[in-house]
Amino acid sequence: MGQTDYNFLILLTILLVGSVAYLYWDIYTVHGIRGVIVNLFSWEERLKIEVGIDSRAWNELNKEEKNLFKDIYYTAKSNGVKFQISNDEKIEYPSLNNTGMKVSGYFCGDEFGYEPTLGLAVGGYKHDWLLVLLHESCHMDQWLGKSSIWSSGQMAGKDVYDMLDEWINGREFEKWEVEKIIKSCIDIELDCEKRTIEKIRNYELLNIDKVEYVQKANSYIMFYGAILKKRKWYDKAPYLEKNVWMRMPKAFLEKGNYFDVKLEYLELYDQYCYN
Ligand SMILES: [Zn+2]
Repeated sequence: MGQTDYNFLILLTILLVGSVAYLYWDIYTVHGIRGVIVNLFSWEERLKIEVGIDSRAWNELNKEEKNLFKDIYYTAKSNGVKFQISNDEKIEYPSLNNTGMKVSGYFCGDEFGYEPTLGLAVGGYKHDWLLVLLHESCHMDQWLGKSSIWSSGQMAGKDVYDMLDEWINGREFEKWEVEKIIKSCIDIELDCEKRTIEKIRNYELLNIDKVEYVQKANSYIMFYGAILKKRKWYDKAPYLEKNVWMRMPKAFLEKGNYFDVKLEYLELYDQYCYN
């Protein structure tokens, strides 16, 4: 081995030891010696600390669900997506209009000046927040894959979901514009839900009933069509109201069926989703 190789090896060792020391110093300053120790021994503990998720919420996950969580977290991290956890039941949506709206979870890409973020509230029932995580992670996949459906969510330099909110809050648009906004939301959500079912299958998440999931997804996507007639968000999410989702079709529908909502479904929303 020549002198140059030897020097190179020393340099490499210094760099390696340096970066590991730096990482653990970082952990030590935040979580103390205990943080350093658990970090040395378990990826689960490391993940819990990095993410900031309550042990209560984390311990409820089974092996497959933990794997899913881990993969989503590291996909986000390695792609520069901020992973924001709230241990409460809701998390604030970082709207540029500063509306302070609280949601169960969200994903926003880097369009319109947002920092790409996956946000999730884990204070409620595991079954509910796990589905939100799955769904929002599929929006992240749409964004990461530069899907054309995802980019159709931009209309004249604005986000269709923001525009829909503006319309609901009283701003006037042409009829064709409102229809286009809603159709675009339906496209994005339908594609996202199909990806979600695929992910449930791939991760063998046996606690999630796939037929039930499609029904809940349908109740949610179709609600966008209902907004066209109601011009109002729900007070209670249709996918959390058994009387609503139980009566939904058990397979995904053609796009048009989410836009032209049948009267029987409109009546269900009226009866159960508004205070
Ligand atoms: Zn969505």
